[in-house]
Amino acid sequence: MSNQAKRRVGILGATGTVGQRLIHMLRDHPYFEVSALAASDRSEGKRFIDVCQWKLPYEMPEAVREMPVYPCKPPLDCDVVMASLPSDIALEAEAAFAAAGYPVISNSSAFRMAADVPLLVPEINPDHLKLIPVQQRNRGYGKGYMITNPNCTTIGLVMALAPLERQFGLEAVMMTSMQAISGAGFPGVASMDIIDNVLPFISGEEEKVEVEPQKILGRFAGSSIQDAPFLVSAQCNRVPVQDGHLESVRVKLRTPASVADLKAAFANFTGLPQELNLPTAPARPIIVREEKDRPQPRLDRDAEKGMATVIGRIGKDTIFDFKLTLISHNTIRGAAGAAMLNAELLVAQGLL
Ligand code: NAP
Repeated sequence: MSNQAKRRVGILGATGTVGQRLIHMLRDHPYFEVSALAASDRSEGKRFIDVCQWKLPYEMPEAVREMPVYPCKPPLDCDVVMASLPSDIALEAEAAFAAAGYPVISNSSAFRMAADVPLLVPEINPDHLKLIPVQQRNRGYGKGYMITNPNCTTIGLVMALAPLERQFGLEAVMMTSMQAISGAGFPGVASMDIIDNVLPFISGEEEKVEVEPQKILGRFAGSSIQDAPFLVSAQCNRVPVQDGHLESVRVKLRTPASVADLKAAFANFTGLPQELNLPTAPARPIIVREEKDRPQPRLDRDAEKGMATVIGRIGKDTIFDFKLTLISHNTIRGAAGAAMLNAELLVAQGLL
């Protein structure tokens, strides 16, 4: 791989919370380099350094500082597009790039549930990439296509559900989230609303978390995905935490299991990214913590450079079968890191 020319990446929404993470993760990447940046007409035509309010605790990479910001429309000087746009904007922009022949790796919800678009988690459903030719045929796309990664709350949940669905079968899932403010982008939630407070509503979030896991854990059936047959009930809250979505989860299984069985299923879970040793793949996608008071956002969100799901408090439940608490870094595993891993899998599979 290292002998091949690096793929040139164009970032849509480059100035945003996820766009900045993408830029940081793409510095010195073995397969990719940033070649073009795009954002709204607020930023268009200006230098990146003049319009981006850089919020990461690392320096803005030298290579992007002087780059001009382009509009989010093709053509863009790149081989592949990574998109982190508001979903209403993504709906038009991502489809336009795919139609113009670009592979599009999206963070937004615009096409996640479209029947011919992979909702990809490389450890769980790499075979869903078989939807790409179906999509190209359906939409007359030629070389272009779109793939998506899950909502930032879905990803932690589905990482925990995947080993359970595989080994014991899932019947029902209940999830209550405590979500970080960075999940709302920048400037996001007003400080007056979130300091000393919890907001028990995140627009559209519960609806996404209640349907995405079944598609991700679904089976590729020739030309479409057959959803996995379990129900999810979700309640989502915004809490005054900077990064990392914490989730309290209860599950009802189809076959008997013990707490030890669950711990082993989580700890032993790996997939294709680990087998292929992809650059962004966490060595341990799931980390089990035994301490009574873990996981916690500050202590656990950065595990495996923010790519691991950390699970603790695994125990029997009085109404469901089991309960647990998990954390996942929303802007890394829940967004930019997920897009990176998806892109690396595309390279490894010869699709990019
Ligand atoms: P953000 O911080 O608000 O950034 C939005 C980006 O989109 C900025 O670069 C902005 O450019 C650009 N943009 C806004 N309006 C535009 C328009 N009309 N035309 C072109 N570009 C426009 O948002 P974010 O948190 O990065 O989220 C981006 C996407 O990723 C959303 O779909 C979100 O749901 C999804 N996502 C976010 C997270 C997370 O944890 N934050 C996790 C998973 C998925 P300007 O600077 O020029 O305005």
